[in-house]
Amino acid sequence: MNIAIQQHYDNLQSGFLKSPRQLLVGGRWVDARSGATFPVYNPANASVIAHVADAGPDDVDLAVKAARHAFEDGPWSRMSPADRAKLLWRLGDAIEAHAEELALIETLDNGKPIKVALALDIASSAERFRYYAGWATKMNGELCPPAAHDGGKFHAFTTRQPVGVVGLITPWNFPLLMAVSKLAPALAAGCTTILKPAEQTPLSSLRLGELMQEVGFPDGVVNILTGFGQTGAAIVEHPGVDKISFTGSTDVGRAIVKASTGNMKRVTLELGGKSPVIVFPDADMNVAVEGVARGIFANTGQVCQAGSRLFAHEKVFDQLIEGIAAKAGKLKIGPGIEFDTEMGPVVSQEQLDRVAGYLTAGLEAGAKAVIGGTKMKRDGYFVEPTIFTSSTTDMAVWREEIFGPVLCATSFSDADLDHIAAQANDTEYGLAAYVYTRDLSVAHKIAKKIKAGSIRINGGMVDSNVPFGGFKQSGWGRENGREGAEAFTEIKSVIISL
Ligand code: ADP
Ligand code: MG
Repeated sequence: MNIAIQQHYDNLQSGFLKSPRQLLVGGRWVDARSGATFPVYNPANASVIAHVADAGPDDVDLAVKAARHAFEDGPWSRMSPADRAKLLWRLGDAIEAHAEELALIETLDNGKPIKVALALDIASSAERFRYYAGWATKMNGELCPPAAHDGGKFHAFTTRQPVGVVGLITPWNFPLLMAVSKLAPALAAGCTTILKPAEQTPLSSLRLGELMQEVGFPDGVVNILTGFGQTGAAIVEHPGVDKISFTGSTDVGRAIVKASTGNMKRVTLELGGKSPVIVFPDADMNVAVEGVARGIFANTGQVCQAGSRLFAHEKVFDQLIEGIAAKAGKLKIGPGIEFDTEMGPVVSQEQLDRVAGYLTAGLEAGAKAVIGGTKMKRDGYFVEPTIFTSSTTDMAVWREEIFGPVLCATSFSDADLDHIAAQANDTEYGLAAYVYTRDLSVAHKIAKKIKAGSIRINGGMVDSNVPFGGFKQSGWGRENGREGAEAFTEIKSVIISL
């Protein structure tokens, strides 16, 4: 820990982390009505770092009332888009001004390397608020000239209005960034919100709530309820909530769809993935090795779009696997708080057991671990980066989302793109796909054939202005870009008989 981080750590210990963190409801920090709290753990050493309130249905009800009031009657409902934009921009600045503190919270809570938290999670969170500040003033409708009616007699146009009170339910892999990726477009569109961060990692969302108050968001615009799946379920079932935006597992996504039918909530879902990586023999091997390794080991593999099924041409298979294994072997694994750490622990005991269970199942089914294959013998939730070869497409490690640093690899020999794409598409998911080739024609053809929401050729990124989301069981709808903001609106058609 360097001196600045040590100072933030001491401040957190004597302040933010000392007393149980409360819920943000209608602009006030309050205990859960039941008084219940639950502990939050540091994955690097399994110690309890904080306690937070456990929101129940009563708290959900109060938060919905506060959000409804802010949406219908409060200053938010009268605020101009330009003033909303200003608030969003200021919040981006506030995140940047508190970057080290927020990164430290994220590292203590989630386990990720602090330098990654700073450069990725916190920097992107600040940028995303600024990006969506721009959209607040650009939520245009359009003119719709009648097709089968006399345009001289009818004037028709659309407007986009905020969908209303929205429930935002987030996962634990990028705690702040996931919350921000929903809050920013929802607020740009003019909605009011109830945020339910993951029970494993609630702290950065709570700190964000304080910053939102400081920069001047009106009471009730953002309510924050910490709690478990039951809290999320109470939000999803509540008749006063107009829309749910959820990121998490496909199983919970399915439950949310079922539970939201009461008032026919709008639902956006970012779910799981088992994304294919296809390496053609002409690919730049350095680029491929680097990209494939990063694609599965970054964030300890806890990434919904992780490239977890590798298809490499037989001519380059050995070279590629050797290269990726060498990278995995050199990764500096340790507590995220140490500045040279490249891979931290997984988020929880439950996640460690889950990943370790897959490793055992893979080995028992006959997969061969080129590197890794077990959890690490040390305190905290550490698991070895693993590459399985000889894994077949019927194995659980090949088919199911592991959400850990586990790559399954196989080779192909033919040049038939339809056949290669069919193998890549042989999954219930469709979030992302990665292709390594220098052949532009192959790249375009395979991009068209793969059923996934994002195709990344020779590397790639996630960007505020590029839509992100899944085909098939990877979700409904898109986040980021114009689509991300429009997902928080209703279209209204206005027809005037002249
Ligand atoms: P994981 O299994 O990786 O923890 P989940 O999909 O279970 O991922 O969790 C993602 C988010 O969904 C968390 O905030 C969690 O509390 C919440 N959640 C879990 N179950 C439900 C549910 N039935 N309804 C609404 N939210 C839920
Ligand atoms: Mg779960």
